[in-house]
Amino acid sequence: MQEPEKPRRKHQSLSQRDQKHLWHPLTQHKLAGEMLAVVRAKAALLFDEDGKSYIDGISSWYTCIYGHCNEKITEKVAAQMQQLDQIVFSGFTHEPAIRLSEALMEILPKNQDKLFFSDNGSTATEIGIKMALQYHHNLGNDRNVMLAFEEGFHGDTFGAMSVSGLSVYNGAFEDHFIRVERIPVPNGDNNEEVLQKLQELIQTHKIAGFIYEPLVQGAAAMKMHDAQGLNEILKLCRENEIITVADEVMTGFGKTGKNFASEYLEEQPDIICMSKALTAGLLPMAVTSCSRKIYDAFYSDEISKGLFHGHTYTANPLACTAALAGIALLTSNEIQQDIARVMKAHQEFGKKIRQHPKVKNLRQLGVILAFELDVQMERYGDLRNQLFQHFMDSGVFLRPLGNTIYVLPPYVITDGQLTEIYNSIEKALENF
Ligand SMILES: *Cc1c(COP(=O)(O)O)cnc(C)c1O
Repeated sequence: MQEPEKPRRKHQSLSQRDQKHLWHPLTQHKLAGEMLAVVRAKAALLFDEDGKSYIDGISSWYTCIYGHCNEKITEKVAAQMQQLDQIVFSGFTHEPAIRLSEALMEILPKNQDKLFFSDNGSTATEIGIKMALQYHHNLGNDRNVMLAFEEGFHGDTFGAMSVSGLSVYNGAFEDHFIRVERIPVPNGDNNEEVLQKLQELIQTHKIAGFIYEPLVQGAAAMKMHDAQGLNEILKLCRENEIITVADEVMTGFGKTGKNFASEYLEEQPDIICMSKALTAGLLPMAVTSCSRKIYDAFYSDEISKGLFHGHTYTANPLACTAALAGIALLTSNEIQQDIARVMKAHQEFGKKIRQHPKVKNLRQLGVILAFELDVQMERYGDLRNQLFQHFMDSGVFLRPLGNTIYVLPPYVITDGQLTEIYNSIEKALENF
């Protein structure tokens, strides 16, 4: 006899159906509740399956900086879809990748010369690390240690995890990490000590490269550091032939008020990692760029000196097209004015709340505004979740990190939407 068919539960929500087969990132499912199902997004707004809207105050993890479903981008990608969808990038090339290389060179620091594609921020940094290590290997230098900042975050693949300082999440893999030494971030007061520590490490370790998030450490709760201090570190690295790798995965494409955070520094990195807003939030892609010096160390009659790293979807034409459309927007007057407008609004809001007794370490760079909510330690436990819920209930999507509240809105956010975000933050200051 045939089993009677299970009655189909027709009226389950997306959030309920999600729980059957899906495993979400950075989630302990036993402790997490249902996932919110988002069915539509436009500009700075997200809409859930019940039709409730939320202002995307963090540009969906720093990607959709020109707004969700921006027609200036989707139309270009739709046209490219009819033309060329995918082609092997080994032995073949295509116009979107070539045009993107030209457009990126226009906005990258002048010393950058070559681009290597991959699919996400972790692989962008993984490749940056491999370039730094193999650079020395190819030149016959005996150097095998990477240098990184404490509390840095560079992604979830093995090399990227190794250089990330937030090891609470990486405990299971520590035995497999590449060799890494760490220095504190320079905060203006400790610059000399940091340089001292770096000098010592240079004497005692075979340091191949230094990977860092320039000026803002995103995952470390938007911690900001001293440009002059970083500049001195980079100078010392250059003098000691340590390859510098700027992880601009978060900071790239206008968020700091300049196209790249590296522009705030005199010393330019040998290698730059880009992803997130590179493709304007439409498709996954990453680029690791490097100077001629790096490329030349791989350019050889010996095949084995090449960079033998490659992903199936390398330089996908659709993703390249999205990136090109994104850069066209970034360099437009309109978006530059939007960036200036958001920066100014943040400054004014910052002035307003700076003196509030619960506001600690208020900081801003470009469209990134962050501060710590100074409440009693006993409240820390579920403070983050309560804050998150408070914002979502007010129709604002912010994703506090511990007790740090930060805003990184799409540049196209309206003044009214910005005010709604600020109001919900002021409510949080009252209620927590
Ligand atoms: C998000 C992020 C990464 C990792 O990028 P994924 O695309 O999530 O793999 C690496 N570095 C920084 C600075 C990031 O913000």
